Amino acid sequence: MTTRTRIAPSPTGFPHVGTIFQALLDYVYAKQNQGQFIVRIEDTDRGRFVEGAEEAIFSSLEWIGIKPDESVVHGGNYGPYRQSERLDIYHQHAKELIDAGHAYYCFCSPERLDSVRKEKQAAGLPPMYDRHCRNLDPKEAASRAETEPHVIRMKIPDNETIILNDIVRGEISFDSNTVDDQVIVKSDGFPTYHLAVVVDDHLMEITHVVRGEEWISSSPKHILLYRYFDWQPPQFLHTPLLRNPDKSKLSKRHGHASVKWYQEQGYLPEAVVNFLASRIWNHPDEQEIYNMDELIQKFDINNIHIMSPIVDLKKLDWINGLWIRSLSDSELINRLKPFKPEDLSDELLSQIIPLIKERLVTLAELEGLTSFFFREPEVDSAVLLKEAKTETASLKTYLETVKRTLTNNSEWTIESIEAALRQVQQESGLKPRPAFMSIRLALTDSLATPPLFDVIHLLGKETCINRLDRTIASLT
Ligand code: GLU
Repeated sequence: MTTRTRIAPSPTGFPHVGTIFQALLDYVYAKQNQGQFIVRIEDTDRGRFVEGAEEAIFSSLEWIGIKPDESVVHGGNYGPYRQSERLDIYHQHAKELIDAGHAYYCFCSPERLDSVRKEKQAAGLPPMYDRHCRNLDPKEAASRAETEPHVIRMKIPDNETIILNDIVRGEISFDSNTVDDQVIVKSDGFPTYHLAVVVDDHLMEITHVVRGEEWISSSPKHILLYRYFDWQPPQFLHTPLLRNPDKSKLSKRHGHASVKWYQEQGYLPEAVVNFLASRIWNHPDEQEIYNMDELIQKFDINNIHIMSPIVDLKKLDWINGLWIRSLSDSELINRLKPFKPEDLSDELLSQIIPLIKERLVTLAELEGLTSFFFREPEVDSAVLLKEAKTETASLKTYLETVKRTLTNNSEWTIESIEAALRQVQQESGLKPRPAFMSIRLALTDSLATPPLFDVIHLLGKETCINRLDRTIASLT
C-alpha cells in the first residue's frame, strides 16, 4: 500500500507554525516511503473562513520547501480537494449511516439544546445531548427532514470501550458513555469536521493521519464512523502542541505563532525545517544541522518524542546563524534581497557580506548592522565621551591625530590602516579598548560593528575624514 499523508488545514487566517510542523512530519514520512503528501482544504466552517488564507497555506509550504503531490493547486486523482466542493459526497455518506441505523435526524431547537445543557450542568453531569430525537420513527423523521430544519447526529453505542491506536502514544481507550451523539451534518447542510475528515481520509486513501493532540478526544467518534462504514481506519499519530519556553501554548497573540513572522524576521526556511524537526526528533548521530533530504533519510516516526516541543527562539537563532554561514556569499546576497534597503547598492552589499556573514543571526538584521556604510550616522557625543574614558580636549586631539594618520595613508590597505592606528593608540596614552571604540563610534555611531580596520577600509578615506571632521566639530 502506498503511504499517503495529508494536512487538512482550515483557511481561517495566516497559517500557524503548527500547521507547517504537521506538514513537515507528513511530508518527510511520505517521501521516505516513496509516498504522497496531500493538502486538503477543510473549509466547512463558513463562519471562520478568511479570504486569502488558502493562498497563504500554499505559499508557506512553498517557502519551507514542501511541494504537495495533490491539492487544489497541484491537482490529483482524488479531488476535489476542497471540502466545500464535496458536499454531495458527505450527504450521500450521511444518508448511508441513517439508512443503516447509525445516525439520525435531530430536530431539537437551539433553545431546547441549551436548556438540556443547563439542566445537565446543574445536575453535575457532562453537558451531553439527551438523545431526544434518537428514537423517533426513522420514516417519520425522514419525511419531517424534507421541510423542517434539522441536523444529523451519529449514534454512539452504550457501555463500550473504544480503542485508539496511536503510533507513538500506543493504545488509548475511551468509555463510549462519555462520548456525545455528535452532530455530523449541521443545519446549514455542511458536514462537521468529524464526518468530513473520516470520509475524505478514506476516499483519498490516506494511510497515516498526523494531526494535533487536540483531536485525541474526537478520535473515538472517528473510529466508530470507520466501523459503521466498514472501512479500515488509517494509522493515527497525534503530535504534541508547540509551546513557549514557559510551556504556554503558541497562540495567535504570539507573533511567532504565524509562519509569516519567521519569513519577516529573516529566518531561512532551511533553518526553520531543521528547528521544527529537532523539536520532536533527535538525529541518530546527534547531528544538529541537517537539510530536508537528510531529514527524509534519517527521520524515524517511531522514534519521536512527544513531550511538549518548545519553540526556543534562541536555539532557532543559533541554527539560523549556522545556516547563514553555510551559504555562499552570492547565495546569501540572493536571500538578502527582500531585506536590502533601497539605498544600499548591490556592489556595496557584496563588499559588506564578508564583513557581516559571521555575525548575522537573521536576514532582517542587515539594515541595522550595516546602515552606517551607506547612511551618514548621527554620532552621539555623550556616548562617545563616555566610551573614550577621557576629557573632551584630549579626545579631540586624539581624533585629530587619527584623521591626520588616515589622510597620510596612501596605501589604504587593511594592514597599513591597522598598523598606523595601533601606533596612534600607543602614543596617545589611551588604552586600546577606549581608543578603538572612539574611532568606531566617531565613524559609525555604533558600539558593535564588523572588525574596525575592515570597516575603515571599506568606508574609504574621504568618508572617514569627513565623518571625523563632523564628529570633532560636534565635541564641545
Ligand atoms: N481542519 C482540522 C484543523 O485545521 C484538521 C485536523 C486534522 O488534521 O484532521 O485542525
